[in-house]
Amino acid sequence: MAAGVRLTVDAANEESAISRPAGGLSVGPVARLSVYPINVPVVSTRSHGVGDVSGGMRNVVLRLETADGLVGWGEACPWPVFTGTAEAAAAALDVHLRPLVTGADPRRISDIMARADRILVGHGDAKAALEMALFDILGKASGLSVSELLGGRCRDRVPLSVSLANPDFAADQDLARRLVADGVRIVKVKTGFADHAFDVTRLEWLRGNMPPDMRIRIDYNQGMAPHEALRRLRDMEAFAPDFIEQPVPAKEWAAMAHYTAVLDTPIMADESVFTVADAVRAAGARIADLFSIKVMKSGGMRRGQEIAAVAAGAGIACYGGDMFETGLAHLAGLHMAAATPNISLGAEFYQAKYYVAHDLLAQPFPIDGGEMVVPTGPGLGYEVDEDRLAEFAAGF
Ligand SMILES: [Mg+2]
Repeated sequence: MAAGVRLTVDAANEESAISRPAGGLSVGPVARLSVYPINVPVVSTRSHGVGDVSGGMRNVVLRLETADGLVGWGEACPWPVFTGTAEAAAAALDVHLRPLVTGADPRRISDIMARADRILVGHGDAKAALEMALFDILGKASGLSVSELLGGRCRDRVPLSVSLANPDFAADQDLARRLVADGVRIVKVKTGFADHAFDVTRLEWLRGNMPPDMRIRIDYNQGMAPHEALRRLRDMEAFAPDFIEQPVPAKEWAAMAHYTAVLDTPIMADESVFTVADAVRAAGARIADLFSIKVMKSGGMRRGQEIAAVAAGAGIACYGGDMFETGLAHLAGLHMAAATPNISLGAEFYQAKYYVAHDLLAQPFPIDGGEMVVPTGPGLGYEVDEDRLAEFAAGF
């Protein structure tokens, strides 16, 4: 550096640090971290192109407590065929992330999450739990909701999509009638887990029996091989779905790009896009018109927002996807969707009302007819029912 040249940026920072009012937001360091493996009973089997869920959802709840008594909650919701295992999520939090979090300043969420990425590869679901618990604490300390901390709400209500995935279609017909009565106007049909004729039969029934304003979406969860997909996708277009999600395995990018180019119906990437780097490459290769963003895939709400920003730059709209979650993890997705303009296609946070036998939250997850209402209270906005948490305890 030439003599006499000063780094004025540093000087300015120093000055602003000095002139900052004393005090600021008061919150103590994280003093306690508790990990609760749970099994949440569910009301039916659900089938998908990659596998089934039945009996219960094996998730992991995280409770952080600061030295001054603020409590933040998080939930990791892995699925072994998609993101990982509950055992790994529990170990990630209890063994590998505990030393990082204990004693940490909950105002430094970006720093904590960057360090989590440096010491632990993958484990997005565990990192999502950690990030939501930290934001819950910061919200309670500041009086702001998580969506306000994420940049502020651009929407106060988010349209609800409910997935139809029961191999017993008569049971899903009953659910569809209940959804209509409840005011829900988006369903997502899980296809590709049985034969194509079964999928066509279900779509025919839905188009014939649902109100004309019912929007239908289709999700194959990777359930077709590239060589068999295109003719089936053309059949599906006859039912005018909003979009068709992940027709082929995650790695089949060339096939995804081909369907995106030749079909009229928008194609959505879910399993093909986990990370920001995936999103950059997927947008460049135009493997989809749309992305599904999930806090469990991306490893938190802010990473999800980064993926949405990449998508926005490429003209790709986004959808709020989820894993098998209680209302607790739903809240993180809902705050993210509320604060992210490009997550504009609604969200599927339906399990708390339509899939679990009992939810984990102390109050009902906020669904009003066909929409979710974004909480405005501090932090995530809802508390965990600790009796339920004890009832759901699982030994893994
Ligand atoms: Mg999906």
